[in-house]
Amino acid sequence: MAIDPVCRNYVDEQQAQHTAVYQNRLYYFCCPSCQRQFEREPGRYLRLGWWQRFLLGLQEANAREFGGKRPSCH
Ligand SMILES: [Zn+2]
Repeated sequence: MAIDPVCRNYVDEQQAQHTAVYQNRLYYFCCPSCQRQFEREPGRYLRLGWWQRFLLGLQEANAREFGGKRPSCH
C-alpha cells in the first residue's frame, strides 16, 4: 500500500490509476484531483517534518503487517 501524499488515503499500487513521478520517486493518488494538486505544488505535500515521516513509516509498517488493511477501531 502506498499513501496518497495529498489526502493521506491508502492507495493500492496494483490498482492505482493516478500516479506522478517527482524526484525519481513514484507517488500514488486516489483520484485525479489529488494528482493535479500534487503536480501543481509537489513541495507542499512533501515538506514533512521528521515526526510526520515517522508516522507515515508506522502507517506503512501497519499496512504491511495487516495485509494492506487499515487497522480499524470497530
Ligand atoms: Zn487523494
